[in-house]
Amino acid sequence: MNYLQYYPVDIINGEGTRCTLFVSGCTHACKGCYNQKSWSFSAGVEFDSVMEEHIIKDLKDTRIKRQGLTLSGGDPMHPNNIETLLPLVQRIKRECPDKDIWVWTGYQIDELDEKQRQMLPYIDVIIDGKFEQEKADPALIWRGSANQKVYRISKDNPQIDFIQLF
Ligand code: SF4
Repeated sequence: MNYLQYYPVDIINGEGTRCTLFVSGCTHACKGCYNQKSWSFSAGVEFDSVMEEHIIKDLKDTRIKRQGLTLSGGDPMHPNNIETLLPLVQRIKRECPDKDIWVWTGYQIDELDEKQRQMLPYIDVIIDGKFEQEKADPALIWRGSANQKVYRISKDNPQIDFIQLF
């Protein structure tokens, strides 16, 4: 998996102060996409163990306390990206259990296949759905268009229970 950008301190993409990783690769081709250069899976640079250690170190940093990690893109839930991101989110929940994980995806929750759903037990909040330009509204919180939904995923049953926040 490649990534385009990493922000070690971010207050825009989710609740609180966070680390945010913009991964490469997306096949949704939404009209009006804010980040078309992220569509290519070969854009950016390879996500390697050095970058993984960097994220873990930032999440454990006690000087600038982060609430968690945001994964955006591109599409972190694209099947090509799961192989890299699943071990990452598992490690974060193991080593930084007090940190939350937010994910933006162009898939709707009910479209996720078995491979993609492996991510759900480790995700706290997921914003789903393609960006639809005709439903775009800059006043929306944490989403670009009104069709997208913000869900908190229940830890009791992460495969089924999605609590819609917005
Ligand atoms: S899902 Fe996101 S990154 Fe992918 S095309 Fe749509 S707006 Fe762009």
